[in-house]
Amino acid sequence: MLIDIHAHIGRIRPHPDATLDVDDLIRIMDAWGIDRACVLALGDHANPHYRDNDSECVLAACRKFPERLVPFGLVVPAMSSDQPMDYRRKLAELKSRGCRGVGEFLPDMPFDAPACLEVYQVAGELGLPVLFDLHDVAGEYGLRDAPGLPGLEYAVQHCPETSFIGHGPSFWAEISGDVTPDRRAGYPYPDGPITPGGAVPRLLSTYPNLWADLSAGSGYHALTRDPSAALDFVRTFQYRLLFGTDSCRRYSVEPVSPIRELLRHWREHGLLDDAICSNVESANAARLLGL
Ligand SMILES: [Zn+2]
Repeated sequence: MLIDIHAHIGRIRPHPDATLDVDDLIRIMDAWGIDRACVLALGDHANPHYRDNDSECVLAACRKFPERLVPFGLVVPAMSSDQPMDYRRKLAELKSRGCRGVGEFLPDMPFDAPACLEVYQVAGELGLPVLFDLHDVAGEYGLRDAPGLPGLEYAVQHCPETSFIGHGPSFWAEISGDVTPDRRAGYPYPDGPITPGGAVPRLLSTYPNLWADLSAGSGYHALTRDPSAALDFVRTFQYRLLFGTDSCRRYSVEPVSPIRELLRHWREHGLLDDAICSNVESANAARLLGL
């Protein structure tokens, strides 16, 4: 069984390849051996590159393949306190219509901005995990946090009922203790040995409500920059790691899932035993989402 915690439909980036509809997504899942996928909403944000993937589009797509697709819905936090938002009503409505989580949560705001904290709090009360993108570049998409992730730590501490699912370049850079400010925001991804003292292992050890999504280039690079340390990381946090792809292009454009191949390689070469692989590939997601 393979459950993808992080899939998309619609248009994600400005170039035409970065578009897929729900039938394209099912074709990718079939080709990659993925049984079920969480489809994350994006288009509720103001970013003009996101199209055909707001919460309504996601719900409609998942209704077409209810055995395969699990919808996540989105609320956009208010940029100022002059715009009071009823997050509870909106998230309760999305939950009543089948959404199992909040995401992809990626406003261009500090991780611990008051409006974001309110969203996390309400999501936790409703039993909806929050999958977030941490991408430390002001003016783009993604939540921002300082080195060492103090904003994330504040949120997981103050919203203990909320399950947070970490994703994105500035999250995965912090798997290592030696991350530098100029290597936290994505390309080129940090490389070289994973040194002790990283914020991600420290927070995963300390807070049981933090989970981590292995999807995208950021997750893949974190697990391949230092294979021996990465295997230790996966063994240590085997109950909190979630397989994911973040694929947003058609199978014809993206015929291989690097993270899928990496897990397959580790399993086939006996580097990870079957039980650990099963936790990462499906059991953790099933437990977290009640699937
Ligand atoms: Zn994504």
